[in-house]
Amino acid sequence: MNLYSINCGHFKLDGGAMFGVVPKSIWNKLNAADENNMCSWALRSWLIEDAGKLILVDCGMGNKQSEKFFGHYYLHGDDNLDKSLAAYGFHRNDITDVFLTHLHFDHCGGAIERDGEKLVPAFKNAVYWSNREHWKWATEPNAREKASFLKENILPIQESGQLRFVEKKTHEFGKLESAPFFNDFDIRFANGHTDAMMLPQIKYKGKTIVYMADLLPSYAHVPLPYVMGYDTRPLITMTEKEQFLNEALENDYILFFEHDAAHECCTLQQTEKGIRPKEFFKLSEI
Ligand SMILES: [Zn+2]
Repeated sequence: MNLYSINCGHFKLDGGAMFGVVPKSIWNKLNAADENNMCSWALRSWLIEDAGKLILVDCGMGNKQSEKFFGHYYLHGDDNLDKSLAAYGFHRNDITDVFLTHLHFDHCGGAIERDGEKLVPAFKNAVYWSNREHWKWATEPNAREKASFLKENILPIQESGQLRFVEKKTHEFGKLESAPFFNDFDIRFANGHTDAMMLPQIKYKGKTIVYMADLLPSYAHVPLPYVMGYDTRPLITMTEKEQFLNEALENDYILFFEHDAAHECCTLQQTEKGIRPKEFFKLSEI
């Protein structure tokens, strides 16, 4: 198995929204805001090469939205999906599976592209993985998440015939699915950020690596009260975080961050304040 970190670019989100109830005087030291109160975040996908499959976990915001839309998110830096794939000798047409943790635009926008007037899969040879519960949640959105579930990112996946649903047998956060998704690739579900978000958990070189998606978007979100204002069920997120952090500490898991602009991975340690990051490193250093 080979694992690759694929940077689809950087964007900005309001620091207050990203840190919830934590005051700016504190979070600003962890991720300094610009003059508009916006902080920089990564759009970091995970590429897994194993047994003839090339699985891409999440695919950034894509490029099909209007200039006005992108004007809210300040895309910056030189990284993009195609460039990051090419650095490892891959092309988007090599991708066999696109695994979508959830269907918010910053995770699945790259799934669909424009071909003239039509909206078509951006990964022509891939199947796209979601789950039934989350698909229903995303396609019948509540007023709170409506702005994050964009029809043009979601419906064309189904219309293309390339959509598949992961068989989901447990709703319990702490339990993994009874069978792995693929070889050493397990799925952990979380319901605090959105309904039935999927976190890939992979065994690699004797270590367990968990893709944190929006359960822990960055290292700064490790302390329990650091829950995003975007979360639909913040108390559930806190419970899920606590349970996960205890398990991760005990078993020396590696956390792989999707949105942390400065850190790809970390391990954890117990401190007198609670569980905190221990060492930071790149995925390629494992
Ligand atoms: Zn996100």
